[in-house]
Parts: sequence; C-alpha cells; structure tokens
Amino acid sequence: MKKRLVSILVVVLFATFSFAGKPFPADNAFWNKAFAKLADSQLTGQSKQLPLPYAYNALEPSVDAKTMEIHYSKHHAAYTKNMNDATTGPEFASKTLFQLFTEIEKYPVLVKNNGGGFYNHLLFWMLMAPASGQEPTGELLKAINESFGSVDKFKETFSNAGKKQFGSGWAWLSVNENGKLVVSSTPNQDNPLMSTTEVRGIPVLTLDVWEHAYYLQYQNRRPEYVDAFWKIVNWKEVSRRYDEALKALK
Ligand code: MN
Repeated sequence: MKKRLVSILVVVLFATFSFAGKPFPADNAFWNKAFAKLADSQLTGQSKQLPLPYAYNALEPSVDAKTMEIHYSKHHAAYTKNMNDATTGPEFASKTLFQLFTEIEKYPVLVKNNGGGFYNHLLFWMLMAPASGQEPTGELLKAINESFGSVDKFKETFSNAGKKQFGSGWAWLSVNENGKLVVSSTPNQDNPLMSTTEVRGIPVLTLDVWEHAYYLQYQNRRPEYVDAFWKIVNWKEVSRRYDEALKALK
C-alpha cells in the first residue's frame, strides 16, 4: 500500500514538473493582450494608407521607381479601399485591425485578404529605406546570433523562406510567444498576427514576394530581387519593432 502511494506521488510530481517545463500554449487572449500594446494596434478596418516614407525612386537600384509607384499607388491603394469597404458593418465598429486578425476565421475572406494586404504593405514600406549600409546592432544583433548563429545565416534562412514560398506570399521575421526570433513564410496576404497562421508572432521584418513586387524589374528572377532586398532593409526600424515586441510580451 505504501509502495503504491509512493509510486502515485512520483507520477504526480513527474507530471507536474514536466508540464511546468513546457512552454505555455499561446492562445488568442494571449496574443490580443500583447498586440494591444503595439503602436500599430490603433489601426482599424477604416484606416487609410500612410504616406510612403520616401520617394518612389529612393530604393533604386534594389527596387525601381515604376515598381514602387504601381505597388504603392495601385496595389496597396486597392487593398486599403477594399478593406475599408469590407469593414463598414456594425460588427467592425469597436474592433481594431489586430483584434480582427486574432479571430480572422470569423470574418469573410475579403477582410482577411484586404486587411492583410493593407497591413503587410504598411509594414513593408516602413521596413525599407534608401541603401545606407545599415546592419543589425545591439540587442537585435544578439538575438539574431542566438536564434540563427550569425547575421549571414539569418539572411540565408529568411531569403530561402522568400525564394521558396510557392506562388504569392511573404517572408517574415517575428518574435514568438517565448520572445524568440523565428522565420516563416505565408501565402497570399496572410501574416503572423492572424489566428489561421501556423507560425504566430509579432512581425519585425517582412518581404513581399508577390510577382507585382518585382516582375517589372526582375521578371521571373525572384532570387535576385530577394538578394537585393538586403541593401535596403531599415535595420533601425527592425530594432525598434523588436524592442517594442519584447515589451509587449511582458
Ligand atoms: Mn505587394
């Protein structure tokens, strides 16, 4: 009898400790709380396009002026208008865009595609800047080294996510629920903030690999476009978003 009690105790203790050692499951409530602390959480389905933070030709030669002009003034403008049109109902009045993303399966696919198209591009514009030889520094550099081994290894991993994404989509660097950097890719206009996305997190860097992002200049040579992206990454903004993400997860 005593032996049996001891073995039950051992099993209970083992179960308790092995559970405690596991990462907690991050649910929608967890993500809503974290996302609400981000500056972008003020965006709604009725938000408008922000001005492009540089001229159309500012990212040349990595991205040509004509591509930027069409991408911003036609594609992003259309996603924004279509998102605005898709979120006029009363069910959207009290919701932020991020709150829609964390229960995106509840809404028409138009909300997902255009809400994603609106936010992903807004993020993408801010995460690029005229070539300045910037590289990651400080806490971000430490975190990249910790997660990927080196900046070069990270670039290779992220580039591969973009190059290998089948069809249209995006490559992402995000901070996951444990505060670690992770690389992923998504199809269409999906992003890591959405409840339907496998690798969830707070995005800190992204790359558009839709053909409309590069075809005029690079035609079918997506890998060349992905490699040229590294010259125009706004690492200062990546760092700012990384710090903001860590604070939001606390
Ligand atoms: Mn695009």
